[in-house]
Amino acid sequence: MSLLKEVILQMFFALIPFVLFHIYYLDRMRNYSRCFILVTSSVCMLLTMTFASSVVEGILFDIRHVIVFFALIYGGVPVALTVLGESALYRYYLGGEGTWVAMLVLAATFAVSLLIDRRYKASYRKTLFTLLTGALISLIDLGLTYLIFPTYVSDHLAYHAFVIPVQNFVGIWLLMSLFSKCVSDKALFIRHAQNEKIETMSHVAASLAHEVRNPLTAVKGFLRLIQENPENVAKTNQYIRISMDEIQRTEAILTEYLALSKPLKERNELIDVCEQLHIVREVMLPFANMHNVELELQASEKLVTIMANPDEFKQVLVNFIKNAIEACADVSNAKVSLSLFMEKNNALLVIKDNGIGMDEGQIKRLGTIYFSTKSSGTGLGLTYSYHVIHTFGGSVSVSSKPKVGTKFTITFPSHQPQ
Ligand code: ADP
Ligand code: MG
Repeated sequence: MSLLKEVILQMFFALIPFVLFHIYYLDRMRNYSRCFILVTSSVCMLLTMTFASSVVEGILFDIRHVIVFFALIYGGVPVALTVLGESALYRYYLGGEGTWVAMLVLAATFAVSLLIDRRYKASYRKTLFTLLTGALISLIDLGLTYLIFPTYVSDHLAYHAFVIPVQNFVGIWLLMSLFSKCVSDKALFIRHAQNEKIETMSHVAASLAHEVRNPLTAVKGFLRLIQENPENVAKTNQYIRISMDEIQRTEAILTEYLALSKPLKERNELIDVCEQLHIVREVMLPFANMHNVELELQASEKLVTIMANPDEFKQVLVNFIKNAIEACADVSNAKVSLSLFMEKNNALLVIKDNGIGMDEGQIKRLGTIYFSTKSSGTGLGLTYSYHVIHTFGGSVSVSSKPKVGTKFTITFPSHQPQ
């Protein structure tokens, strides 16, 4: 019975990376890192070896080879070597007659893992490869132990022929399949969040197309007036001037829209927050007009600069403003106001609306993945935005009341130009 307990405990250790991944990466827009693999593999290694199963004192069996394989696949050779070193040192410290066989088995299973590594990554039949690795590890473990301690192995044949292979098979299958599932789910989510940007921009594009039609109609009207009365030079000049203004404004909006819908660049730079706010307001105005919402901007007189990725920053502003406009869609005298000011060394950006507001429960869930109260919402806009703001060293606070409105305050550490 105690042997069964020991084996079950080993299976439990194989779940640790999966559990830690879920805790640590739950709200993050990132997938696992080498550092994460190193830390979780090391923790697993210490636990699995400390509580190893054994029938004779000094000869220990656990899932250490499985963990080294896991570290190799997800962390690469340097991580696997570190975990391997940790395992060898700890085994040496634990001591007993099985110590040198254990070292031999570690070296042999690592060599086999290295041979499988590339084939495993390239293969579509990962489960098959996983089980094959489990079989090879068990065979090496048993074969080498038998070579050095033949009588010990034949005395405990049932244990060696059954318990150790089961421990390795189930251990490797649990560890690799559960972890690969959460890693691929995360990759899917990140891709989904990127598509959310396309979705947002297509909503904005629909209202933009609507907005571009107005100046076109105006210009068409002026051209007709000029055609009907070409002699009146003063009037003609005035119509041409108004038409040019309309065309220029439309062109500016379209240029900004195109810049915004481009794929993100990966660079941080010093950005003028006020300038970015003006650009985003221009792009979002048609969307606001379509929903009968006034979009007002009060910016600070002083130059406010922050260090951030301008593309990501604009996308964040679009997300907050779009939400605010959508919240006001069914409200009369709807108004969204954007204001920017400095407080100590921070740039404070306030996005306030008099829309439907939120209750306590909704406020608590803001920014968590897939939280949306809209029938066609994705619940990814704020998850993405919160993530970007945190990576720039900023923070978000919110106050909201149902049927009254919502106020988001985004705080960024300001950077002064050198
Ligand atoms: P989506 O807009 O696709 O629903 P978001 O992540 O942008 O996803 O927003 C999540 C949810 O937060 C929204 O569905 C809405 O319930 C709430 N929310 C965000 N901003 C506001 C706001 N200004 N007023 C009221 N509710 C808001
Ligand atoms: Mg949204």
